[in-house]
Amino acid sequence: MSPGKPQRAPAPPPIERIAARSADIGGGITVQRVLPVRERRTIGAWCFLDHAGPVVFEPGSGMRVGAHPHCGLQTFTWLIEGEVLHRDSLGNEQVIRPGQVNLMTAGRGIAHSEESLPGEQRLHAAQLWIALPAAVADCAPAFEHHPALPQWDLGGCRVTLLTGSYSGHVAPTRAHSPLVGLDLFSPQSAAIGLPLDPGFEYGILPLTGEAHLGGQRFAADELAYLGRGRNAIGVDLAPGTRLLLIGGEPLGEEIVIWWNFVGHSKGEIAQAQRDWESDRNSGDGRFGRVVGYAGEPLKAPPLPWAGV
Ligand code: MN
Repeated sequence: MSPGKPQRAPAPPPIERIAARSADIGGGITVQRVLPVRERRTIGAWCFLDHAGPVVFEPGSGMRVGAHPHCGLQTFTWLIEGEVLHRDSLGNEQVIRPGQVNLMTAGRGIAHSEESLPGEQRLHAAQLWIALPAAVADCAPAFEHHPALPQWDLGGCRVTLLTGSYSGHVAPTRAHSPLVGLDLFSPQSAAIGLPLDPGFEYGILPLTGEAHLGGQRFAADELAYLGRGRNAIGVDLAPGTRLLLIGGEPLGEEIVIWWNFVGHSKGEIAQAQRDWESDRNSGDGRFGRVVGYAGEPLKAPPLPWAGV
């Protein structure tokens, strides 16, 4: 380095394009799975991202996901269209409507069901999971419903803060690691600058429409992975574009994701599978019982590892 010249910050990494893959979540519903994919497992503590819809079901049909367990994570449901009834083994029964978030902290274990309300034929939603750090992964289960979230205008886009804090706004959702989530909707074309925390890694995902950033075009269900080290990113949105921005401090822990469980070892996952299979038959164990759902609890698939 020559004397007198200011040292430059290292250039941020190039933007990676990661395509979602189709996944069948049962009941004839296919979603676009953005995380985890081969190229990327986590963004901050965000470890799972399914984009469902927008879809219009046949009359008399809709989403019906029977009782199933979770542990070691939070499920984060952001509803854009439709109406979905959540029931869980803590006794919560909550309808979620557009613009609202359901946040279920599974901790040591919870079970829930999710179904479209009768007569409701539309569905457009993002369901994300947030890995719980090892220090709190065994916490007591909890459920939060957030009927309204901070919203503001940014260059003609409507911004909704889903979790974390951003531009002086603070979301009411309970987080256990530094992370952020934003929804942006642009009715017209827009060119905006999004301030970023250089200590966070980020992903930007168009849910509808298309966005240009870093000289590349991203269509719906194409994730732009930004990595870390940026102070801001410029984004051009086509009319009618909706996108998610998710980010956080890199997780810094190895996690194991299998079926509906997140753990820090295969042994933990195997125990969760055994506990759920026992609960399915007897109820009232670690994961508890979901009351009111018309259908059988879901069966866990066999473990992919022998001898755990
Ligand atoms: Mn679930």
